[in-house]
Amino acid sequence: MTCQICYRKGHNSLGSIEDVQHVFFKCDVAVEVWKKVASWLDLQIPAIDDISMLLDWAEASISDAKKRKVVGAIIYTTIWMLWRFRNSIVFKDPKMKKSHIYDNIVIHSFDWCMNRCGLDKRCFAIDLITNRLEPFETSLDDH
Ligand SMILES: [Zn+2]
Repeated sequence: MTCQICYRKGHNSLGSIEDVQHVFFKCDVAVEVWKKVASWLDLQIPAIDDISMLLDWAEASISDAKKRKVVGAIIYTTIWMLWRFRNSIVFKDPKMKKSHIYDNIVIHSFDWCMNRCGLDKRCFAIDLITNRLEPFETSLDDH
């Protein structure tokens, strides 16, 4: 199947095959989103086109356990939002726009960390104006 994201944008006359590597890593939208995520986290995310290899990279290269957990959650959330965006195009759901992907990643990874990683709200400071999440400021060791 041809990537519907590229196809709808009309710059895909040859057709990129819609596979995991393409949708989550190689598609223009994915490349753009990962760039934003990398600069948000201030991390050099390597050009890896495999989810488990990317998680392995985070595991191996981030020494701080809490930061590692948060980055892991953000990687999952990014994949999830790219998938939701892809579905919104395939199923013609106008609710999710390309411009919403990044905001959704920020909001949902915040929720995820609250609810699943068991991290405390005090670990985070969201500046809603700049939309930056700064999860690594406060230490859990304080309480
Ligand atoms: Zn594509």
